[in-house]
Amino acid sequence: MSEATQEQWTIKRLLDWTSEYFQKSEGNTSPRLDAEILLAEALGCPRIMLYTRFDEVPEEEKLARFRAWVKRRGAGEPVAYIVGYREFYSLRFEVNSSVLIPRPETEHVVVAVLEAVKSVGGNPIRIIDVGTGSGCIAITLAKQIGDAQIAATDISEEAIAVANSNAIEHRVDDRIRFFQGDLLQALPAGSQPVHIICSNPPYIGTSEVGTMDGQVKDHEPNLALFSGDTGLDATTRLIDSAPEFLLPGGYLIFESSPFIIQQAKELVIQNAAFDSVEIEKDFAGHERIVMARKQDT
Ligand code: GLN
Repeated sequence: MSEATQEQWTIKRLLDWTSEYFQKSEGNTSPRLDAEILLAEALGCPRIMLYTRFDEVPEEEKLARFRAWVKRRGAGEPVAYIVGYREFYSLRFEVNSSVLIPRPETEHVVVAVLEAVKSVGGNPIRIIDVGTGSGCIAITLAKQIGDAQIAATDISEEAIAVANSNAIEHRVDDRIRFFQGDLLQALPAGSQPVHIICSNPPYIGTSEVGTMDGQVKDHEPNLALFSGDTGLDATTRLIDSAPEFLLPGGYLIFESSPFIIQQAKELVIQNAAFDSVEIEKDFAGHERIVMARKQDT
C-alpha cells in the first residue's frame, strides 16, 4: 500500500490490496472480513456501507489510521483488540488485551444456562460466572433473564474493570456484582448458594503451547488461556469447590476443550455431590460444554 502508483486508493482498491496482504500473513483465516472491519471502523461507517462507496477515496487522516491498523493486524494482533470490541450473542463487548476475546463456542454456555434455568425454577435466579473476563457470559445472561442476580469473579483486576464497563454499557450493572479473586474463592465467605454456576475457565495445557496459533498465544492473556500442564487445573478446582456454592438440584455448567472434556466429565462422576452429568457439542460438532447437576439433598 505504501508504494505510490498512478491509481488512486479507492475503497475497493484498499479492500482488495489489504485482503491480499492479510492472506499472506500467518494464521489469518478471514483476510477479507478483517480488511472490511478495519476499513469500516477507520471510516466510521457500517461495514455494509463500504460496498456502496467503492469508488470513494478516503481522506488522508482516515487512511493513515487504517494503514496503522493494517500494520498491526499484519503483525498478528487480533482485529478485536485493534477496534476494541467483539460481538457475542448479538451484543457488542468492549475488549482489550487484558481479556480473552469472546468466542462463538462460548455462546453455548449461555444456551446451556438458559436451558438449565427452566428446570431450577428460582425466583429470582441466582448465578455465578467464574472467570468473567470481558463479562460476556454474565452480561448476556443478565440481558436474557430479566430478574437474574449475578455474581461474577475474575482473578484479574484489569478484566474486572472491562467487565464492569461492559455491564454499565448494557445497563445491567445493577444486577451483576463483581469480585476480584481466584475462581469461586473470590466470593465472600458465607455467600448465599446459587442455582447455577457457569464458567469458561482457562483450559489449554502449557504442553500444547507449541501447537498454538501465534495470534492467540502472543496476544491474549495467558491467565485466560492456560491452566497447568494438561489444561485441567482450573476445571478440577472448579468442580471440587462448586458444590459448596450450589443449591441442591443446582447446575455447574462450564466450557472445556474436546481434548480434556472426558477427563472433566470423569471428575464430576467421581464427585459424590453431583448426581448427573452431560456433555453438549458445539456448532462444529466438538464436545464442548459440561452440565453437572448437584444432587437434591
Ligand atoms: N468468560 C470470558 C469468556 O468466556 C472469559 C473466559 C476466560 O478468560 N477464560 O470469554
